[in-house]
Parts: sequence; C-alpha cells; structure tokens
Amino acid sequence: MADENKCLFCGIADGSIPSLKVYEGKNVVAVLSIKPTSKGHVIVIPKSHQAYLHTLDGDSLFEIMSAIRSITLLLSQTFNPTGFNVLNNMGPGAGQRVPHTSFNIIPRYEGDGIKIELPQGEFKEKELIEAQKKILEVSKENTVKALKAIKEGKIEASPEVKAEAEKALAKLEQTENPMETVDKQYSNKLEDLMKKEEE
Ligand SMILES: [Zn+2]
Repeated sequence: MADENKCLFCGIADGSIPSLKVYEGKNVVAVLSIKPTSKGHVIVIPKSHQAYLHTLDGDSLFEIMSAIRSITLLLSQTFNPTGFNVLNNMGPGAGQRVPHTSFNIIPRYEGDGIKIELPQGEFKEKELIEAQKKILEVSKENTVKALKAIKEGKIEASPEVKAEAEKALAKLEQTENPMETVDKQYSNKLEDLMKKEEE
C-alpha cells in the first residue's frame, strides 16, 4: 500500500492478493466481493491503476462494459435475481474506498432490504438551462484548447489532421450553436492533451 501505484485492487489484478475470480480478460478482472452487499456481488476491476474513469484507456473502458454485460447475464442464469444495480463510486465524496476505479455489480432479490434511492429534486427549468449552458461552454473550451494545441504543434498530428484542425477551429470559434461539435477524431487528441497536462 506504500507504493502509490500499487493498491489492493492492483494486487487482486496481478494475483499477489488472493481473490475469487469470475472473469479475467486482457485489461480487466472481476472478483466476488468478500463482503458482499448481496449474493453474487461482483467487483469489476481494470488492471491499470487509475483512480477515476477520466484517465482510463479506451480498451479498458470497452472491456469493462462488455465484462459487465457477460457477468450480469451469467449471474442471472446462476442466481436468478430480480434485477441489478451497477455502481461506480468516483471520489471519496461518493464513497470510493480504494483509489482504483471499479464497478460493483449488485444482484437484487425480492425483499433484500438494500436501498439505493436517488431522491428526485424539483423541476427548475431556468437552472437546468443554465447548467447545460455552463457544461457546453467548458466542453467548447476544451475542444478549442485541443484544436489549438494541434494547430500549434503541441500535439503531434499529420499535416492533414493539422489542416483539418485549423478548419474546425475556425468553424467552432464562429458558431453560436452550443451543441456544435467537431469530428470525433479530435476527442482522442484531447484526451492525450489532458493526460500530458496531468503529468
Ligand atoms: Zn491499483
């Protein structure tokens, strides 16, 4: 635990800590929780030590979702629950105990007494519109930042991509439509940029 890059889940993933595995793939393992919330409670863990989803690579993310799909099907066949809750706690403020992201698959049974309730707030249209505006502003700022970094050569890109980034940037800076997005290929570049900045 002293090593910042090695934690309980890293130990489970590399086998140095014993666990009861129900799935293992290239990037992901899934084990039975030793203090289960319900029968068949499984924890899905990426092998890469990342505190949050933000910095997890695409392959791991994809494998997590596909593992959740197979495991819930498997648990359905095995224990015949009435449903599932799939939970990812991000940050200590949300109840995350291990600083290594994970998903809990919690099978639900009639009368299990588990309460996962999301209180419903009031419908306040003005606040919602304001929130959407803020989110989209930050999203646009991020995209502009990534495109500028490509344009200025801070992110490596081919001359074609560079030219396209310049065009996209000009378009984005003019647009009034907050939902205006640029081609998907830039989202990966943006992730690279953000990772670089974190280092
Ligand atoms: Zn870890």
